[in-house]
Parts: sequence; structure tokens; C-alpha cells
Amino acid sequence: MQPQIVLLKEGTDTSQGKPQLVSNINACQMIVDAVRTTLGPRGMDKLIVNAQGKATISNDGATIMKLLEIIHPAAKTLVDIAKSQDAEVGDGTTSVVLLAGEFLKQVKPFVEEGVHARIIIKAIRKSLQLCMDKINEMAVRIEKQSKEEQRTLLEKCAATAMSSKLIHQQKDFFARIVVDAVLSLDELLPLNMIGIKKVTGGSLEESQLVSGVAFKKTFSYAGFEMAPKSYAPCKIALLNIELELKAERDNAEVRVDNVREYQKIVDAEWQILYNKLAKIVESGANVVLSKLAIGDVATQYFADRDIFCAGRVPEEDLKRTMKACGGAVMTTANDIKADVLGLCETFKEVQVGGERFNLFQGCPNAKTSTLILRGGAEQFLEETERSLHDAIMIVRRTIKHDSVVAGGGAIEMELSRLLRDYSRTIAGKEQLLIAAIAKGLEIIPRQLCDNAGFDATNILNKLRQKHSLGGQWYGVDITKEDISDNFEQCVWEPSIIKINALTAAAEAACMILSVDETIKSPKAGEAPMAGGMGRGMGRPM
Ligand code: ADP
Ligand code: MG
Repeated sequence: MQPQIVLLKEGTDTSQGKPQLVSNINACQMIVDAVRTTLGPRGMDKLIVNAQGKATISNDGATIMKLLEIIHPAAKTLVDIAKSQDAEVGDGTTSVVLLAGEFLKQVKPFVEEGVHARIIIKAIRKSLQLCMDKINEMAVRIEKQSKEEQRTLLEKCAATAMSSKLIHQQKDFFARIVVDAVLSLDELLPLNMIGIKKVTGGSLEESQLVSGVAFKKTFSYAGFEMAPKSYAPCKIALLNIELELKAERDNAEVRVDNVREYQKIVDAEWQILYNKLAKIVESGANVVLSKLAIGDVATQYFADRDIFCAGRVPEEDLKRTMKACGGAVMTTANDIKADVLGLCETFKEVQVGGERFNLFQGCPNAKTSTLILRGGAEQFLEETERSLHDAIMIVRRTIKHDSVVAGGGAIEMELSRLLRDYSRTIAGKEQLLIAAIAKGLEIIPRQLCDNAGFDATNILNKLRQKHSLGGQWYGVDITKEDISDNFEQCVWEPSIIKINALTAAAEAACMILSVDETIKSPKAGEAPMAGGMGRGMGRPM
């Protein structure tokens, strides 16, 4: 009998070799299945309820994957690429997951037959290289000759990004708003200078774009009704100071033995508050915004002096006001002078649905705008916000990187044709592998068809034929159940989305293929899992 060699701590879970690779690929397939039906203009949405019972309806790959709380270590890679696609370009998050999953699915038979992972990885890298060169060669640069031309280009890209979302019926309306919002920014196009506010009620078309800062009226005390509701021009004091009497509330212990002493304490408290208020009024501000509470005494005091005030303003709104209007957020009332006040042309308070909104317009410093969204249910508004985020990112990307390709599977079909043609010119295993990747790229048009209920095989055959005859922009026509020149149909997407999606998908596939062993240490305090739960050699983790 050989003595048993114990190498790893008891309870360590290891699995390795080909079965491990195949099981990782299978896990990725399950993730893909979770999001595949959401792709494209006819894609479905997902309703996800988390442990706290909060329901989210979404069509956005990254959002869905984030909410799924996936724990499988290999499958997590796909979640990560969706997230990075979201952060990097903001759209194409479902596509990237689908592509990575499909590449893996297509090479799985080769893995099972024993082709070495390194050879597969090399073929994927080679295909990626060919695709990148082709996209760069094909992408159409739109000359920035006139402002109008640039605008139409941006609106088309925004509309394509939104055509797969819940709000696709209003996509032209929102495309205009989104382009206006992005064009109002300065050259760096900072995303955080576009605020999005949601007000339930009303219809989507009642959404509006405010050029300037806007935020919901915060909680306020009596005396507020008497405060003026508009100024032009307007000086704004931005504070991080509590303007409230707080003696009764704090747990300080004060020992007094007669009423006069107590009155002194109360008076001192009031005096401190009045001193602060007087200093603020002295500075000449018309509007006082504070991150902390502004109590009833202060509200009345300001109202008597024709000053508008709002307490408990959310920090991001305060920051945006500061960036837009200048000035500084003060933490003490002692040195509030005219030069720390923000300035804007007009301030007014208006009614939007059931909410009061404070609007600051004509801000001199940074250019900023705020979208006020209207619509029925809360979840619906949240999804609208996410869709607009995608569109905003796309418009920003297109401004920075003004080349576009046709969507609707057109670019993927063309790349697929290129790879297939290339594969015929080489010999050996690589030929089959590159042809497999070429097949993998077809997942995008195929899924677009499947989700719309079209006959995918039929449409793909037509597309393959068109592309081999040189119709490079032919893709799925969602409205006619046919194929069409999607460049002429104005289904445009910035080429950067496709470049990023393909790169990320290929990298993720390579990474998953290059893992052939997973070792998982037992969690502290966890009972050793020998045999338990069916894990072990070659089994999924
Ligand atoms: P992603 O999260 O990957 O952006 P979407 O659900 O937004 O996923 O779907 C994007 C896909 O839908 C892209 O491949 C795009 O080309 C395609 N698409 C968008 N609009 C149209 C359209 N009008 N006709 C055909 N395909 C479209
Ligand atoms: Mg999209």
C-alpha cells in the first residue's frame, strides 16, 4: 500500500483538466441564457426581485448581471466584462456577454476533442486582430462640417441605442433631449453635469430638459410659503451648517438651580442662531441652500428678509450647483462674503407634477443641464433613467470618436464573412477554429431574429449571401422581417462599442480557456465537504 499524500488542507475543493474547462464553459452558457432574450429592439425585459423585495425591471445587460449576484468564479468573468463595457462605453452590454458565451460555445467541441487550449486561444487572438483591422477600415467617419449634420448623426446613434429599450416608442423625442443635454456640456463632457430627476405621474412626453441645475424642493418648515419664489439675477449661499435650535434634542446634561439660569441658556442658544443668520443675510445672498437642516426659526427669519432657503439638499445637487454657479460650500457662518456666493441668472420654483422644483438657470461657470423625467411607475422611471444613461454615453462617445458602423447584426455578419474567407486560406487546426469564431459572431443577428420571432435560419442565409456578394452593411430589418441595408436605414452605432465589445468578449473567452484548475479553500468554520454536495474532481465549483 502506498501512503496517501496529503497536499492540501482538508476540505479544499479542487477540480482540474478538461472536465473543469468544459464545466466552466457550461456555466458561462447559463449566464448567456439568462440575458440572451433581452437583446435588440424586440428583446424582452427581466423583472428581478432582490432579497429585500425590491423589484427592478431592466433590459440592460449590465444591470441584470449585477442583480443576479453570480458566485460561480468563472462565470463571474462575464459579469465583469458587462460591467466594464457599461463603464467604458455605456452600451452593448448584452452583446458583449452573448459574444463571449458564443465564442466559448463554438470552441467547446474542440476542447472536448482534446485540442490544446493554447491553440484555441491563439486562434481567437488572431480572429480578433482581423476583426479590429476590418472595423477600423470599414467605419464611416462623419465629417463635422456643420452643426446640423453632427446633430443628426448624434440623434441617430442615440435613437439606435434606445430602440431596444422600454422607451423605444418615444426614442426620437428622447434622442433630441439627450443630444441637447450632451451638447450643453463643455468640451470634457463630464457625465455628472447632467442630472436626472424622476417625478412619478404624467406621461413620458412631459419629460423636460432644464438648462441649468434643478432639484426637488426639500422638506421645509412653516414660514416657507412666505418666502419669495423667484429671483433674477440670483446670489446663492451654499452651506454645510445646521440652522436649527438644538438644545432640546441633544443629550447634553446641564444642571441649573433656577429658572433664570435656564432662560440664559435658552437665550444663548437663540443668540448663536441669530448671529449665524445675520451673517448670512449680510452677505447679500438671495437663496440659501444647506446640506444640513434649516429649522423653522431660520426659515421664518429668511422669509421675513425676502430670502429663499432650502435645507437637506442632497450633496450631489449642492455640488452641481457649486460647479455650475461658482462659489464655495461653507462650513462656518463666520466668513460668508460676497465672493463665496454662487451666481446665476434666474432662480425660480415651479410645479412639476406633484412636486415643487427649484430651478437655477443661466449658470455662468460650468455648463450643466437637468433632465426631469415623468412617467407612470417607479420601476418604469428607473429603467427609463438607465436607458437614457446608455444613450447619453453613446452620444458622448460619438462626439469624441466620430465614426460609426451599421448595427442590427450588419457589422457582425461582415466580420464573420471576413473570418470565414480568411480561414479557407490557411491549413491546419486553425482553419477550423477561425471558422468556429466566424460562426460565433453570427449570434448577434441570430438572436435579434429569434427575439423578434423571425425565422433566423432563413434570414441568416439571406445575409450570408448578401455579404458574400459585397453588401457589407446588410443586417436584420426588424420591422419587415427581412434584411436591409442598415446603414441607409440609419441603424447606426459608434464603432467604439463594437471594438470594445469584441475585444472584451475575446479576452474573456481566452481567460476562461486558460484556466484549467480551480482550487477553493474551505471557508473558515465550514465543515469539510468531502463528498458532500457532489463536488470534487472535474465537477463544477
Ligand atoms: P446591448 O445591451 O448589447 O446594447 P440591446 O438590447 O441594446 O443590447 O441591443 C443592441 C442590438 O440591437 C445591437 O446589435 C443593435 O445593432 C441592434 N439594434 C438596435 N436598433 C436596431 C434596429 N432598429 N434594427 C435592427 N437592429 C437594431
Ligand atoms: Mg443597447
